Amino acid sequence: MISYEEAVDHVRGHAWISPLLLAPITESVGHQLVAPIVAHFDSPVFDNSAMDGFAVYAGGPPWRIVGEIAAGSVRAEALAPGTAVRIFTGAPIPEGTDAVLPIELAEVRGDELSGQIAPGRHIRRRAEEYAAGQVLLERGVRINPGIVATMAANGMRQVAVDAPPRVGVLATGSELVPPGEPLWPGQIYDSNQPTLISAAQALGCTVEGRHTNDDPDLTRQAAEALLDSSDVLLTVGGVSVGAHDYVRPTIQRLGFEQIFSGVAIKPGKPVSFGVRDDGKVWFGLPGNPRSALVTFILFVREWMGCGPQWHPCVLAHDLAPAGDRETFELACWSGDVRVFESVGSHAVGGWAEANALVRVPAGSQLRAGDPIQTTLDLWHPTL
Ligand code: AMP
Ligand code: MG
Repeated sequence: MISYEEAVDHVRGHAWISPLLLAPITESVGHQLVAPIVAHFDSPVFDNSAMDGFAVYAGGPPWRIVGEIAAGSVRAEALAPGTAVRIFTGAPIPEGTDAVLPIELAEVRGDELSGQIAPGRHIRRRAEEYAAGQVLLERGVRINPGIVATMAANGMRQVAVDAPPRVGVLATGSELVPPGEPLWPGQIYDSNQPTLISAAQALGCTVEGRHTNDDPDLTRQAAEALLDSSDVLLTVGGVSVGAHDYVRPTIQRLGFEQIFSGVAIKPGKPVSFGVRDDGKVWFGLPGNPRSALVTFILFVREWMGCGPQWHPCVLAHDLAPAGDRETFELACWSGDVRVFESVGSHAVGGWAEANALVRVPAGSQLRAGDPIQTTLDLWHPTL
């Protein structure tokens, strides 16, 4: 059976190639830039006042107040020796200004101004942050609200970004009932469909969800319908070798080549991956809820180009001897890492307290103070 690293390599080899999307900057958060952004203007665009106060000529005090410049207006004439103008934050400073004397330090008597200020104070110089032509943002940067400020200040209304894939989620299992419906003996609520829909939506994807009973024809019909309108099909459940597991034969009949089936990890061993000539891909996620979400984080995110980033963190306590598969546990990081007690892949809880996943190597016996590979980006790569 292949390892986690080998499976990740396969998934990367078939990674989602995004079409280009021109998005309004206000709808661009969470997307990645497909091209670098170059400064169209200097920042600041012009020398301007950092304070409300007075633009003063060198050599005072005293100065004679000869006018006023509000933000948004310009004074054409230069300051003459011995004069000052009242100025407001963000207003362009007139030529000849030596410093801005803040209102708090100013003494005004009629049109006469006095106060002490060092040369050059409280002036924001043109291009002191960056100059036109400079690369502001590299290709691949994921846009956050702060980056929207950079783009808007650069005069941009739209930006070229990647387009997240359209995702189809197919929950399989005759025991499953949608949340909110009555539950009869032997039935359980379908928790995976809402979970995977949410996980994909959190990455900006559009998602369609369906459920099918364990029946070969119904499974095929539902998978075909989802594939018509999706770039990636996530089936969940029915991917093992049980008598009622119809997913893999169905996927093969729909023309997919199976790249791997089964990875030496816990939870999530049955996770499977396939590709089709038309570029669509399929992930067969295991039905146990912990397995389904962990394998989404490990593999589906990797395919989207935002796989989890692993960092060595310090383990807070000893761990029990590890099993024969690499194990992914929920954990809480706050300086060092506390690993939650293993519950089993059927667990639906634990996510409220967790802010990390850790990798426990097969056959290891980790002690307090040992490094442990930890990902702190459970839900979103950067935000
Ligand atoms: P399977 O992978 O179909 O063999 O399912 C493994 C376990 O996960 C079984 O106990 C199923 O009842 C459970 N399961 C499968 N799909 C779901 C789902 N959508 N929501 C909750 N539990 C599920
Ligand atoms: Mg099943």
